[in-house]
Amino acid sequence: MDIIKIIEHKRDKKVLSTEEINFFVKEYTAGNITDYQASALIMAIYINGMNKKEISDLTIAMADSGERINLSDISENIVDKHSTGGVGDKITLVLMPIIASLGVPVAKMSGRGLGYTGGTADKLESIPGYRVDLGIDEFKQNIKDIGISLITSNVDLAPADSKIYGLRHSIACTSNIPLIASSIMSKKIALGANKVLINITCGDGAFMKKMSDAKKIANIMKEIGKEANREVRCVITSMAEPVGYTIGNQIEIIETIKCLKGEMPDDVRQIIYALGSQMLIMAGKIKTANEAKQLIDETIKSGKALKKFEELIQRQGGDVSYIQDITKFKPSKYVIPVLSDKEGMVNKIQTEMLGNLSAYVGAGRNKKEDKIDYTAGIVLTKKIGDIVRSGETIAYVHTNKEETVNSVVKNVKDAFTISQRKTSKPNVVLGTII
Ligand code: URA
Repeated sequence: MDIIKIIEHKRDKKVLSTEEINFFVKEYTAGNITDYQASALIMAIYINGMNKKEISDLTIAMADSGERINLSDISENIVDKHSTGGVGDKITLVLMPIIASLGVPVAKMSGRGLGYTGGTADKLESIPGYRVDLGIDEFKQNIKDIGISLITSNVDLAPADSKIYGLRHSIACTSNIPLIASSIMSKKIALGANKVLINITCGDGAFMKKMSDAKKIANIMKEIGKEANREVRCVITSMAEPVGYTIGNQIEIIETIKCLKGEMPDDVRQIIYALGSQMLIMAGKIKTANEAKQLIDETIKSGKALKKFEELIQRQGGDVSYIQDITKFKPSKYVIPVLSDKEGMVNKIQTEMLGNLSAYVGAGRNKKEDKIDYTAGIVLTKKIGDIVRSGETIAYVHTNKEETVNSVVKNVKDAFTISQRKTSKPNVVLGTII
């Protein structure tokens, strides 16, 4: 088999065979196919698409590019959760300790930032010492001992996804249903959880801009799950504006800690209830969604959820004193307010634009080798439906790059539409597909 022929086939809109897909994934993982050849094939997939069989083949090939973990010795019901990505999406960081503190084991493999969307693995690495690159034995041991582990894909687990994922942003191939569905489901299958909850984000700051695309990817992931013997449920949530008030790495960790102390923005709370109830139902902990709210509120109020987060951080090498005292996180050199020159109500926030600006000031990567600045990002002080006075601060830009400050402050201001038109807060939970 020959990679040039495979690229040629996809370029010419042909359907790839299982053998061709397996060959590409195996040889690219082994380093026998170059990044530029892989890029050409990924671009051809992006442009010409894949049918359901091809997406399923790509998923299984990526899942089998490393080891598959068996978690059945830990519990018969391991529930995993993944988001299709978004701006300010810190839900995994808040939700997983909540669920683990309720006695439901959490095994989670997260991604790094991709395009304008942030990555849970990068956010965790902003805590000094935190290790996302655990081997399988340590990962399993952590789940056995403290009921939770959060890692990223690596040499052992879905390494093909790690390589392809790293390329996709630099070649403008992030927002593509076959690539997103296979990337996420390969990690879920390799990880061994038998129940999977997907948060499908939808709107300006998400890869799925339209509800029809959100529903389409939900159905594809459910089908892949069925074939791989996994129960998959999906909750569609809004990305009409960033989740919570922070976009960046360290600043999202700080917001996460506040959420776990009960200071939760309303949109975060609604998403936590919606996803948390599905996870608890899938784990067999509760029967109806209504029961979840009380359990979640109690575990936060009692301090157990925050304690579980601290246990996780400590166990994976992080300096837990940062969680106990958030003033230890040193801010960027420049923290610049963005002042409104309009009066009225926030009607719209260009969320993808804010994600890109946050990456530009240092929080994201352009090339997969780029180093990120953990302190950088954007903090909002106003969201859709809020009243703004002229001269009032609508956001802060955090950066160490002096040269970016003026242009970014102007662009952040432009990302907000403020007028006299009355606008209500957007619906946060848009649908559940079980
Ligand atoms: N999360 C992933 O793991 N992969 C994607 O492609 C998008 C979001």
